[in-house]
Amino acid sequence: MDFFQYKNGELFCEGVPAEKIAREVGTACYVYSKATFLHHYRQIADAFKPLSATICYSVKSCGNINILKFLAAEGCGFDVTSGGELFRALQAGGEAKKMIYAGVGKTDHEIADGIRAGIAAFNLESEEEIENVDRVAGSIGMKAIGAIRINPDVDPKTHAKTTTGKKETKFGVDIERAERVFEQYRGLKNLRIAGVHTHIGSPVLEIQPYVDAVTKMVALIDRLSEKGHKIEWYDVGGGFGVNYEGPQQARPVTEHAKALVPLLQGKPYKIAFEPGRYIAGNAGILLTRVLYRKQGGEKKFVIVDAGMNDLLRPTLYEAYHHVWPVKPEAKNLNEDRRRDFVIQGGDTVDVVGPICESGDYLAKARALPPVKRGDLLAVFTAGAYGFAMSSNYNNRPRVPEVLVDGDSYKIIRKRETLEDLVALERV
Ligand SMILES: *Cc1c(COP(=O)(O)O)cnc(C)c1O
Repeated sequence: MDFFQYKNGELFCEGVPAEKIAREVGTACYVYSKATFLHHYRQIADAFKPLSATICYSVKSCGNINILKFLAAEGCGFDVTSGGELFRALQAGGEAKKMIYAGVGKTDHEIADGIRAGIAAFNLESEEEIENVDRVAGSIGMKAIGAIRINPDVDPKTHAKTTTGKKETKFGVDIERAERVFEQYRGLKNLRIAGVHTHIGSPVLEIQPYVDAVTKMVALIDRLSEKGHKIEWYDVGGGFGVNYEGPQQARPVTEHAKALVPLLQGKPYKIAFEPGRYIAGNAGILLTRVLYRKQGGEKKFVIVDAGMNDLLRPTLYEAYHHVWPVKPEAKNLNEDRRRDFVIQGGDTVDVVGPICESGDYLAKARALPPVKRGDLLAVFTAGAYGFAMSSNYNNRPRVPEVLVDGDSYKIIRKRETLEDLVALERV
């Protein structure tokens, strides 16, 4: 569910025509729908209300300060994965007490900043990190709180590059080793370990991997409690999938909750979730204009003004994003954005960017309605890991971010200039 819809044959974001934004702001640009962000946040918060769960939005998925601000105003906490994200979340007015900090490679500096800010907890990923957080806390004369990230060894059935909860990933402590690690670090001087954490991968489209992970973790917490460890919270992580390929691809969070709430209700520990994609994914599109069409051998290309530096997911994960004209002919409306929509006319094309890499594409072997130079295309479900992963590769200034709220829009990050590209260089 989102608020990008075709009305009278053209794409709107809430009450604003996409074409108007493109004309006024230029292309390429990211366009976000505030109502969609809020809808998904509230859907998660409501679904897990029976658990009084804390929802910590994953800042890395889409972290513009304006977005963090309105989520914080709803009571949302934040999941951060670097000192930069911690800084950003604090700048947005986020409450440190609702922030958790994950990541396999926290530096001493980042650890100290997190402790000084008063974050709720560090998610700890290895024995050496546990020892180091204890040491850093001692060195600044403060106490730290942490949860151990456990690798529950379940297969989330997602892309290899986003599988994080199977054995032999760099994340977390293997579940067989977990009890030993808790024993080993009982009673540290400056670090209190009082929680467990998982994050099995992303996007997870099915419910079963979560059920498997939660079942294993609940049993682990029982064993830890028997041994006298006081587990105060279980952070289930994020990863809930969204609809990239049509309206029924991912299970809505209400269904996840139906399966997970009974497993966790009434437990003597608090529950947290760290959704990013589920909140941001469908809340953003990338608008791009067709620059040229060309043919190479048998292949047809549509060359657009957005590239892999603007949206990396297709190149990095072979991810599928629905790409469609902002003003298609009536017979090619495809309002449900179905991957299997049968187009009238048009061609099978690769939609590619201007970058000097053959891996630079937004869509491959894609049936697209007829398009010509100057036409505006929308790349859907680009809110999560879209702008967040963008770069200046090929010296392309990063594109602006626009936030739509009802009938108006605001530029929440301006387009970078050519001067910005060289501003930090010293000659
Ligand atoms: C990236 C990440 C998340 C968010 O994942 P989504 O798929 O965006 O929900 C949550 N927790 C951790 C530890 C992460 O690294």
